[in-house]
Amino acid sequence: MDYLSPQQLEELKELLLKRREEVLNRIRNFVEGDTFKVSNEVRDEIDTADLEMEREKLLRLRERETKYLHKIEYALRKIEEGTYGICENCGGPIGYERLKARPVAIYCINCKIKLEAEED
Ligand SMILES: [Zn+2]
Repeated sequence: MDYLSPQQLEELKELLLKRREEVLNRIRNFVEGDTFKVSNEVRDEIDTADLEMEREKLLRLRERETKYLHKIEYALRKIEEGTYGICENCGGPIGYERLKARPVAIYCINCKIKLEAEED
């Protein structure tokens, strides 16, 4: 496996920027969804437990998106620093194909399996 070429790096950067835009949009939608619920007059008719569950589900989703967003920003920072695509465990190349499938990856596939790193 080779290190990334400048073209591949550029391509992955584009991908990360696109992902960031998508995540930001989803987070924005969550916020609007919350506001709608609070201002909704039919609140009394909804079972409080259901509402609680719904809110928790939303919170968990938002938490996951926020975590993903941080990973994207971390990856973009690594591109700026010139350390993107290098495994944080062994220092070897992560590989273009793997990064294309998962641009926020910080471990090569071997280390990922070895560490059973939580990535998602
Ligand atoms: Zn590795």
